[in-house]
Amino acid sequence: MTKHIPSRLYLSEEELPKYWYNLRAFMKNKPAPMLHPGTLKPATAADLDAVFCKECIKQELDETTEFIPIPDGILEFYRAYRPAPLIRAYFLEKALDTPAEIYYKHEGTNTSGSHKLNSAAAQTFYAKQAGLTGLTTETGAGQWGSAMAMACAYYGLDLTVYMVKISAEQKPYRKALIETYGATLIPSPSNTTEAGKKILKKIPGTNGSLGCAISEAIEKAVTTPQCRYVLGSVLNHVLLHQSIIGVECKIAFDKYGVKPDIIIGCAGGGSNLGGLIAPFMGEKLQGKSDVKIIAVEPASCPSFTRGKFAYDFGDTAQTTPLIKMYTMGSGYIPPANHAGGLRYHGMNSTLSQLYHDKFIEARTAVQTEVFDAAIKFAKIEGILPAPESSHAIKVAIDEALECKRTGEKKTIFFGLTGTGYFDMSAYMQYNAKTMSDHIPTDEELENGFASLPKV
Ligand SMILES: *Cc1c(COP(=O)(O)O)cnc(C)c1O
Repeated sequence: MTKHIPSRLYLSEEELPKYWYNLRAFMKNKPAPMLHPGTLKPATAADLDAVFCKECIKQELDETTEFIPIPDGILEFYRAYRPAPLIRAYFLEKALDTPAEIYYKHEGTNTSGSHKLNSAAAQTFYAKQAGLTGLTTETGAGQWGSAMAMACAYYGLDLTVYMVKISAEQKPYRKALIETYGATLIPSPSNTTEAGKKILKKIPGTNGSLGCAISEAIEKAVTTPQCRYVLGSVLNHVLLHQSIIGVECKIAFDKYGVKPDIIIGCAGGGSNLGGLIAPFMGEKLQGKSDVKIIAVEPASCPSFTRGKFAYDFGDTAQTTPLIKMYTMGSGYIPPANHAGGLRYHGMNSTLSQLYHDKFIEARTAVQTEVFDAAIKFAKIEGILPAPESSHAIKVAIDEALECKRTGEKKTIFFGLTGTGYFDMSAYMQYNAKTMSDHIPTDEELENGFASLPKV
C-alpha cells in the first residue's frame, strides 16, 4: 500500500536538525587543498586569519568531522524561518501529465528571499562571538547582501556591501532592502578601493562582476580594524552551513518514506547545491544509494560543462588563495545574464571534485528557456521563482517530461533556492520579448582561460 504524501512534508520545530553535514568527511577522494598564492603551499589557518573569522577557517579546513553541531545562537535565528517547506508539486505533476513524482524545497520564505540566510546567520554569529565589530562582503544579484544585512541587523554588526554594478542598476529595490536593514551599499567596481580603481581604469564602463566585487570587499576588510570578510558561496564552510537544507529534506523524506531518484539544483558557486545534496551524496558515496544528481548552470557561465579543472583565484584581482575547481578563469566576465547569482567564474572545490569523479552530472540552460520554465512554474505552483532557481525548475520539467515519454515513475526533487520578487525587471524583459540568449564562443572562453595562474 502506498502512503498518501501530503502537499507539504511537515517537520516540527523539534525535528529541526541540530547539526550540519560535512560532506567532505565522506569522500575518499578529497578536494585538493587551497594553496597560498605566494608559496603555492596548502593554505594554513594563519594564512586565512587576516581575511576570515576563526571558526569559519576551522570549518573550512575540517575534512574529517562528519557532523558539526549548530550552536544555539544560530539555531535560535534558524527557528524564525526554518524548517523550510518541502513541497510535493501535485499541480505541476498534473499539468505535465507525468507519472513522475516531483518535490521541491522552498528556501525563499524569508525576507531576503533565498537560501543564503542560512550561511549569513552562521557567519555573522561567529563574527560577533569573536568580538568583531564589522563585516564586508560582495553581492551579485543582491540576495547575499540582503541576507547579510538581515543577519547583521539581528546580531548587531556593521556591514559594507559591494554590489555588482549591473545588479545595483537592475535591482534598485534590492539596494533599498539592504540599506533598510542598516548596511552601507557601494556599487562595484568603485573608486573606494585600489582593486576597484584598477578595474575601472582597465575596463571603463564595465558592468562589474562577482569576482571584482570580492576583491573590493576583501581589501576593505583587511584595511579596517576589527573587520573581516564574509563570502556567500564557493567556500566549503558555506556549503557546510547550507547542509541544513539537505539534512531537513532527508529527515522529512525518511519520515514520509520518499526516496528521490534524481536531485536537481542550480549551480553558481555551488553552495545551495552542495547543501541540498549533502546527506544524499553521503549515502551515494557509501554505496547506499544510486541517486542521480544534476547541476544546472547558465549557458552564459558554464563552469562545469565548458570550464577547466584547475587551480584558480576566487576573485578578479587575484588576491585570494588558489582553489582547485572547475573555472572559466578569474578574468572571465560573464555576459549580463539575469541570474546574477549564477554569474561566478568558478565552482566550489568539493563539488568540482565530485563532478570530476562523475558523482554529479551537469547541464546548461539558456536564459529564455529558463524564464519559460519560471513562468510555467509560477502559474501552476503559485510561487514566483528566482531566475537562478528556475534553472533547476527547467531541468526538473525536462526530466518529468522524459518520464512521461518513457512511462517511468521516477521521484524528482529540486531545490527552489529563492523567490523572484526583486527580479521583476528581468520578467518585464521576458514579457516584452526583449530578452536574449548569449552563449559565449570558444574564443571568448579562451580569454578567461588565459587568466589562469600557472601552477
Ligand atoms: C546565490 C543564489 C544562487 C546561486 O548560488 P549558489 O552558491 O550556487 O547556491 C542560486 N539561487 C539563488 C536564489 C541565489 O540567491
